[in-house]
Amino acid sequence: MALVDYGGSSSSASEDEELIESTHPPTMVALKRPALPTAAALLGPKKPKPEEFVEDVVDDPALHGGRIRSFKHERGNWATYVYVPATACVDQLEEFQTEAISNLSSDLELQPNESLHLSLSRTVVLQYHQIDEFSRSLQAALNSSAGFAATLKGLRIYTNEERTRTFIAAPLDAAFVEKMTAILQPIDQVMLDYRLQPFYDPASFHVSLLWCVGDQQTLLNSKLAELQELLEDQDTLPLAVNKVHLKSGNKDFAYILK
Ligand code: AMP
Repeated sequence: MALVDYGGSSSSASEDEELIESTHPPTMVALKRPALPTAAALLGPKKPKPEEFVEDVVDDPALHGGRIRSFKHERGNWATYVYVPATACVDQLEEFQTEAISNLSSDLELQPNESLHLSLSRTVVLQYHQIDEFSRSLQAALNSSAGFAATLKGLRIYTNEERTRTFIAAPLDAAFVEKMTAILQPIDQVMLDYRLQPFYDPASFHVSLLWCVGDQQTLLNSKLAELQELLEDQDTLPLAVNKVHLKSGNKDFAYILK
């Protein structure tokens, strides 16, 4: 399986060493020789590398469309998720986004999702030095996963767990849930290996199209038939599941499926 890194530079040896150190804490043994000073003692505290600053922003909700972060933003914490891009039907979905925003403008302020994708993980947090190792684990885990051609069908309303955001989404056609679950399983296993939370159980695969602040599930469910009509003007919505992507901070990796 081919791996494509669309992102920044790959990790250096020292970053890999850092991971090994942190995953294998030194065992307690009685030292016969006086201990040598550590690198940290000689060099002082480690300075973050320039690329570690990329995600380092002040958490001002106004800067991210009024969204409220679900995890505390700290230097070196990289928001990470696994996904399938919804490239094949992007024009149809964008047309729906525009129409839905104008149709519901008197009821609530909807924002279009910029990256149209089907998530195969929650958004988890990785440390910068874990990213390349995590990517390699994911690539190995997906090595025997087979791609397929799927479609999206209908609309469904979701909220995030904190109910601070509501989403209008196009769910994966039920006929493809089994095949998508087969791709999700190795991804969930990698999450568990890294002591990260696996995906929702049961998973409800979907492509989020629009979102708004707060819990607007009741209102949007009452508008679902109206929205559905807008989508019915579109032909079938194809989703080519031939690549799985990993996004971590500003890095994007792609794993081509068999
Ligand atoms: P996403 O577009 O992948 O970010 O998904 C939008 C929201 O759907 C996320 O904030 C999830 O918390 C929410 N969601 C709620 N229930 C589920 C579920 N069973 N499977 C997947 N996503 C879910």
